[in-house]
Order: sequence, then structure tokens, then C-alpha cells
Amino acid sequence: MSGTERETRFVHAASDPRRQGGYVNPPVHRASTVLYESTAAMDASQADPLKRRMPVYGRFGTPTARAFEEAVAELEDGYAAVATCSGLSAITTAVLAYVRSGDHLLVTDSAYLPTRKFCDSLAALGVRTEYYDPRTDGAGIAALIRPETRLLLLESPGSTTFEVQDVPAITAVCRARGVVTVADNTWATPAFCRPLALGADVVVHSATKYLTGHADSILGVIVGTADTFPVVRAAAIRLGQCAGADELYLGVRGVRTLHVRMAWHQIQAMEMARWLGKQEGVAAVLHPALPEDPGHALWQRDFTGAAGPFGVELERGFTKADVDALLDRLRVFGLGHSYGGYESLIVPADPVSHRLPGTWHDRGPLLRVHVGFEGLDDLKEDLTNGLLALTGH
Ligand SMILES: *Cc1c(COP(=O)(O)O)cnc(C)c1O
Repeated sequence: MSGTERETRFVHAASDPRRQGGYVNPPVHRASTVLYESTAAMDASQADPLKRRMPVYGRFGTPTARAFEEAVAELEDGYAAVATCSGLSAITTAVLAYVRSGDHLLVTDSAYLPTRKFCDSLAALGVRTEYYDPRTDGAGIAALIRPETRLLLLESPGSTTFEVQDVPAITAVCRARGVVTVADNTWATPAFCRPLALGADVVVHSATKYLTGHADSILGVIVGTADTFPVVRAAAIRLGQCAGADELYLGVRGVRTLHVRMAWHQIQAMEMARWLGKQEGVAAVLHPALPEDPGHALWQRDFTGAAGPFGVELERGFTKADVDALLDRLRVFGLGHSYGGYESLIVPADPVSHRLPGTWHDRGPLLRVHVGFEGLDDLKEDLTNGLLALTGH
């Protein structure tokens, strides 16, 4: 459907009701064993090393998995996708597909913290991870690449601090030097950014967030190009990666309404970000769609919209007890991890414990806000009460 309008693609990507008895949605295949009609059919099923053409065994994917994978691959303008049990496992699988002992790995300093912990753990396998400032330009990345640099992992905007990276410049430098680039596109989703079109080799998602979109599943997906997909798929097979039937179903169901949900998240979050920027006690709002944000120009160039989560930096000097008073006063915003569901969430997100010196210093306490679909007046009233608690009222 490459010539089709994008909105139409979200609704119909890779959907073929004729394959499923005419029903609009794919069935939930709960499956391990596949029965063969003959030994010849069994032998034929073994011929495909990537185990995609014929059903072989549940771990290699079911029709429910294919429905989700094919839809996401099409929306990301990728060649094919492989579903995994979580967003983190999508990242670990994509990285393990490429790195070998002795390799050097470049990772954005703004990466999701568990991504960072995984990359650090690779030291035990002889892989050295170096973190780079997410504001580094193409020339800066070129200076960091060594003969043994194998892979660069980027996330734009970054988790908790929301720096936008110059993805086309970074991927161009990496491609010229033979370094594979993996982009975590969880924040933007294919509704607002397609990193493969910006030069990335692999895209990973925590489908737990917007793709499923209702805080009811843990799911990951990796999208590759014709060059990278076979490498990633082979790694997923070796590592035993697969996703549960219900999660896959919720993933494909979520994708159908993704562009509508994202459009509304964008409107709600923009209004809350602008409003929060004017409130007492707030030092800065980290949201790349705000014109004053340092990442605004890159965001405007490379993205077609802005998702729900953004950062709120409070004035310096507030203590943990002050911030806790704010959070404990809230009644509409939920205090909880993750994002991408229909409900608004807030969490403390201070990156000071793990960031490179210089990328986040002398700043006030940081919160991450995810704006859901509640009424804006209720959300503002809730935060007004929280900010009063912050300042001791
Ligand atoms: C949540 C998240 C992940 C991890 O996803 P899970 O599905 O929770 O494993 C990875 N990257 C980003 C940017 C995330 O927000």
C-alpha cells in the first residue's frame, strides 16, 4: 500500500480479512506444536533458516505474530519485523545480533536506563560501551568511531531529558564507516517519525507504550531493512525471542487506532506543556515541540508530530520531600512507570545518578509527565494542587 495515505495505512496495513475467514481482526493463536501432513511437509518447513514461510513451531511466530509484525514493518517503511517479549528484549536482541567480543558500542547518554544497564553488562562479554552526549553532531560522532566500533544505539528524543538527536547526520556518518545504527522509536512511534527513512538500519520499539496503548501488555518489536532483518531475525531465533499471543493481538489492535490516539496525545500534551511552563516552581519544560526547546529545529525537520511524554524541571533547591509532597497530592495523574496508555502519569525522573558529567548538571528536580485523555481542566487543577504542595501550601 505504499501509495496510500498514511492514515489509511494505520487502519489497513498488512490486514487481509480473507486470510482469517472474513473477520476484520486476526484470531489469537495460542500455539506451540504445528502438525505436518507428511514428512515431506515437515522437511520443507525446515528449509527456511529464518522460519517464516511455513509454520514450524509456536516460538517462531504464529499468524497473530505475523499480523502484528507485518503491520509495524509496513508503518515503519521497513522490510520486515520480529516481535519480542518486551521493549527491552527488542533492544537486547538487536544489539546481540551484531556485537561480538572486542567490539566497541556507542550509546546515547540519554538512553532508557535499563538499556544502559544492559550495555554496561556487555563488558563481561568483552564489549566496551561508550556513552555520547545526545547533542553530538555528525562530525562529533565521526570522531568517536574507532576501527572496532560495531553499532550505535540512539534514542531521539532521549528518555527523561528529551534531547533530539541529529539522526540523519549520525546515521550517514555511521553508514560510511560500517557502523550499524539502531534507533529506539518508542516515543514518536511511526505516526510521528520513521527512523529508517532517516538512515537508521534497525528500529526498536517498546510496543508496551503507544503501540498497544492501553497499559495492558508488555511487548517489543524490531524492524529491519532487507540487509538487517535477516541478522536480527536469526538472533531472535537463537535467543528464543517470542511474544505471547494476547500481547501480539493487543499490539495489532492498538496499531489500528495509533494515529488517532497520537494526534490527541499531541494536542493534550502541548497544552499541558505550555501551561506548565508558566507555573510557579517550574524552571523549564523539556518538550521538543515548544519553540524555545533546544531540540525544536531538529524535531521540526525530522518529526511530523510530538508524543505525550515530556520533562518538567522544577526550580533548583526543592528537596525530595518537596517533590514527594507534590506527587502525593495528585489525584488525577497516576504515580507510575511507563507511558502511552489512555491515562495521565507522572514519575520522578532525575538522571543525575547515571549521566555523563556535563550532560545534565546544576539542574532542578526532574519529573516525567505523560498526558492521557482526561479533561485538561481536571489535569490542570490536579497539578495546581500538586504545585501548591511543592511550595509548602
Ligand atoms: C519503556 C521503554 C523501553 C522498555 O520497554 P518494555 O516494554 O518496558 O521492556 C525501552 N525504550 C524506551 C524508550 C522505553 O520508554
